[in-house]
Amino acid sequence: MIECDKNKWPRCWDCGTEFSPKRLRLGYEYCLACGDGYAAKETIRKSKCVAPAFNKGAYQYVGSLEDAKLIGR
Ligand SMILES: [Zn+2]
Repeated sequence: MIECDKNKWPRCWDCGTEFSPKRLRLGYEYCLACGDGYAAKETIRKSKCVAPAFNKGAYQYVGSLEDAKLIGR
């Protein structure tokens, strides 16, 4: 039904909460709560992205297969 489409609200990319289509028209893809905390969350995501880079560095530091076997035990 067409009325169903009208009632279909966009869902927040972050938490899945439905928010007002008016908000989507303004260019928001997040609900009110996530939109407010979006800047802070982005900072947390960036800090999480840094961690794997350090892990890779540590992995490469193992160097030889012999050392890797010792660490495995
Ligand atoms: Zn949200």
